[in-house]
Amino acid sequence: MGTENSNRQNYPLRPATIPFSTPQSSTPFLSSGPVIGSQASAFRPVPPASSQFPTPPLSAGPLAGSEAPGFRPPSSVRSNELVGQPPLTQSPYGPPTTGLQRFPTSPLASTDHLQHPQASVSGLPVAPPPTRPQGGSVPSQASFFPQPQPPSISMRSPSQNIKTGQFNTNIPPSTDQPFSPSRQHVQPFPPPMGPSQATARGTFQPAFPGYSSAQPYSSAQVPLVRSAPFPSQPGGYAPPLPPAPFPGQPRGYMPGPPVTTSSVPYSRDQVQLQGTAQPIASRGLVEDFNSLSLGSVPGSLDTRLDVKALPRPLDGDVEPKSLAEMYPLNCGPRVLRLTTGGIPNSQSLASRWHLGLGAVVCPLAESPIGDEVPIVNFGTTGIIRCRRCRTYVNPYVTFTDHGRKWRCNICSLLNDVPGDYFAHVDANGRRVDLDQRPELTKGSVEFIAPAEYMVRPPMPPLYFFLIDVSISAVQSGMLEVMAQTIKSCLDNLPGSPRTQIGFLTYDSTIHFYNMKSSLVQPQMMVVSDLDDIFIPLPEDLLVNLSESRIVVEAFLESLPSMFQENMNVESAFGPALKAAFMVMSQLGGKLLIFQNTLPSLGVGRLRLRGDDIRVYGTDKEHTLRTPEDPFYKQMAADFTKYQIAVNVYAFSGKYTDIASLGTLAKYTGGQVYYYPSFLSVVHKDKLRHELTRDLTRETAWESVMRIRCGKGVRFTSFHGNFMLRSTDLLALPAVDCDKAYAAQLSLEETLLTTQTVYFQVALLYTSSSGERRIRVHTAAAPVVADLGEMYRLADTGAIVSLLSRLAIEKTLSNKLEDARNFVQLKIVKAFREYRNLYAVQHRLVGRMIYPETLKFLPLYGLALSKSTPLRGGYSDAQLDERCEAGYTMMALPVKKLLKLLYPTLLRIDDCLVNSSVEADDFDVSKRLPLTSESLDTRSLYIFDDGFRLVIWFGISASPDIARGLLGEDFGADFSKISLPRRDNEMSRKLTKIFQKCRESDPSYYQLCHLVRQGEQPREGYFLLSNLVEDQAGGASGYADWFMQLHRQVQQNA
Ligand SMILES: [Zn+2]
Repeated sequence: MGTENSNRQNYPLRPATIPFSTPQSSTPFLSSGPVIGSQASAFRPVPPASSQFPTPPLSAGPLAGSEAPGFRPPSSVRSNELVGQPPLTQSPYGPPTTGLQRFPTSPLASTDHLQHPQASVSGLPVAPPPTRPQGGSVPSQASFFPQPQPPSISMRSPSQNIKTGQFNTNIPPSTDQPFSPSRQHVQPFPPPMGPSQATARGTFQPAFPGYSSAQPYSSAQVPLVRSAPFPSQPGGYAPPLPPAPFPGQPRGYMPGPPVTTSSVPYSRDQVQLQGTAQPIASRGLVEDFNSLSLGSVPGSLDTRLDVKALPRPLDGDVEPKSLAEMYPLNCGPRVLRLTTGGIPNSQSLASRWHLGLGAVVCPLAESPIGDEVPIVNFGTTGIIRCRRCRTYVNPYVTFTDHGRKWRCNICSLLNDVPGDYFAHVDANGRRVDLDQRPELTKGSVEFIAPAEYMVRPPMPPLYFFLIDVSISAVQSGMLEVMAQTIKSCLDNLPGSPRTQIGFLTYDSTIHFYNMKSSLVQPQMMVVSDLDDIFIPLPEDLLVNLSESRIVVEAFLESLPSMFQENMNVESAFGPALKAAFMVMSQLGGKLLIFQNTLPSLGVGRLRLRGDDIRVYGTDKEHTLRTPEDPFYKQMAADFTKYQIAVNVYAFSGKYTDIASLGTLAKYTGGQVYYYPSFLSVVHKDKLRHELTRDLTRETAWESVMRIRCGKGVRFTSFHGNFMLRSTDLLALPAVDCDKAYAAQLSLEETLLTTQTVYFQVALLYTSSSGERRIRVHTAAAPVVADLGEMYRLADTGAIVSLLSRLAIEKTLSNKLEDARNFVQLKIVKAFREYRNLYAVQHRLVGRMIYPETLKFLPLYGLALSKSTPLRGGYSDAQLDERCEAGYTMMALPVKKLLKLLYPTLLRIDDCLVNSSVEADDFDVSKRLPLTSESLDTRSLYIFDDGFRLVIWFGISASPDIARGLLGEDFGADFSKISLPRRDNEMSRKLTKIFQKCRESDPSYYQLCHLVRQGEQPREGYFLLSNLVEDQAGGASGYADWFMQLHRQVQQNA
């Protein structure tokens, strides 16, 4: 059967229906079972003896054309997710339709409104779905089972042919849609590189006006001819494919001269540069770029560069300020960061920018206290939006005609101001009520959405738990920690008293729990027919937490002991997943999966295909990292469609095929948590913290997100954990502050005629409190005609974030080496282009020159190449670990990603030993270069990558420190002990330092690992392999990497 445990004894199935029983035994819980090794690092799956590699799975899978990686939405219409029509397509709320299971006696089961697949591309609104009352509307069944089943659960109905279907077949027919997906086509992408450079250069204007002519920068360009970006030209703008509401718009723009950013203040430095002959002496130039001498030192054969002089991000991520200074009304960089704040004014200029033109968006980023996102309720006025492009009113719209009209900053249409929203304007065009209008003064704002933004009552927060109770789940202690944690969170789940909850457990059978509030104990129902899953008692499996609180608590208290004696090794994960879907599909919500073994029974069972060293370096390598069975992608598509977000918690030390399981999280806006070789004694704090955060953080439900931008530019690809519902609408069944998404921008016009491009992120969601809301973030960026400006406004953090996602996506269709080369090539091309701008004029031929804004890019690029998803080959990361890291990094906000790539290394023994230094004063910003040369054998260091803490004990460090921190264990094998809390000053200080590290970012919990210098392989695994500046294995050290880049930049320069 392909299970790793197939040689173990299978125990007979539990009786079909057993009453739920209270804990029968008080036997102490076994937390040190023999099943799982204690060390993640020590474990290495044995490659299967004869692994067969099938043809790459899913390379033409049902979703491949429309999902994130590599997908370029067609150039059809953007906008209008909310055009007066229900914002979401109808069937996410409707009952499951033909292709899915039906509840046997549901009165709605016959409301089969699934359209023929082609209907969804008509672009015509169809009737809204029947709104279903929440919960409990399905008549109960008379008995649990067995009983005649409806012709149900076919996941492969003709309309959802997973072999050949387009994603659109899974998208319910649109009600909101002016989109016309049938007109989609895929555009070539990425922007031309290489060959086009020469052409591009031909049209390039002098890049650095201060040098090339006497004209000051601010007047070097064609003068502005208009004061307003879009003078009254009604109809002068139309989206490329006119959406239905505006059919009559003439195409085309008024031709205009290329306009530069003459009005923006950053021309200062440029002006100062005028006439400067010696670049290094110029202040402006120093601000603008850096160079490092790399040529051979005269009189020496040593061609190595001064390693200490290499740039390092020891201050962590510093968000660039220039854009915010230009446009103070922009939303904050926590929410939106552009890879460059200078939007190229032409395609030829864009083609010379090699670092990805785009944005990283974290729509629900947490705001600092005192700077919360204001909530605006327009009441009966309705939300003020442009009637053509559906942009939300924002600080960049302008009021004219004495306040009676407003001009859209995105499409320049002149809109009427509704009577209720009218205010007089002063001589400067300022509304007199501006101070009371956050939507006109703040870059981030949240609108309360009226009824037309819903197609059903806002869903309640819903948490459904799918729990593996096979032997390893029990013996590792996972079950106990999980149950305790959920129980401790019950008071803090968002959305009380509407919150819904439910549980399902499985091993070789599936166990449902009746949680009806009238019961005292939950009632367990076991289904053992895995081929024909049905739901017993559909109305009592998901219950209102407040009403059924007692039953829920009783369940969680009994759960660990209930399965204490369970010796079942099988996992009917796939059938259990389908059952969970059937339970949840009426409402949507969050599905939390706790999986301990490789799915071994029923649909979705996975082979122990494992990791195979022979496949590395071949063209089949990537198949290891992609799901083998289309079942998982298909399920993910169904989950998303029904507003279900999936978080996967995986615990096994053996191969569990995270590549397949993670797919569920990837396409549903979820997240993968991985605790390899979970052992309660070691990992419980981490699981407890992360599960608690997952359950209690503020969550946006049943969401969709769109990023609008001004005419001439368009977002063409999206990268992260989500599913694309239409060309540019991201379906996010659940979102929270820990999720970010990247998008790439393309120019649609050969030449942009505007001086500013505006972006607007709109996230339509249901809050836990049951309101429909729209979080809107607006930002502006200048259009530039000059490549130098693009570099000056570059944001390394955003670039690294985008490149990481592109590189990780590349590992799913290419070799690891190809992905690393991709990163390197991007940097080389960018630096070469930059060099061509400046090197000759400045006689910097023998030097590596790079823009100040990108000085950390080489190091982050190196770190990315050495990160878990991309590093080395077979022996450099466990396959599951690699896949998990890939899924995780695809969703990380910028700051968190940068910290993972270039972690913090701090020396701590001074603080611990010195009694005059308080732990509160310990400076966590004194970061050290990530090289073994930073490590003094007499000292202690702490390494923090945001996911774990490592304490490194130098071999010559004072034994007093080790004794103070570890007591009599100080001489023991560090893999066997954990850091105790001891009653002494040193221990208290260290605890405080941990606290500081953990508080700086609570999204994950950093488990602490102790490492003694020289103790291998522990030291290598936890620390040395993460010192990214060192040469390790086949990978370069920082200095060598820098030299390599330099040489490649010079080639064909
Ligand atoms: Zn507009």
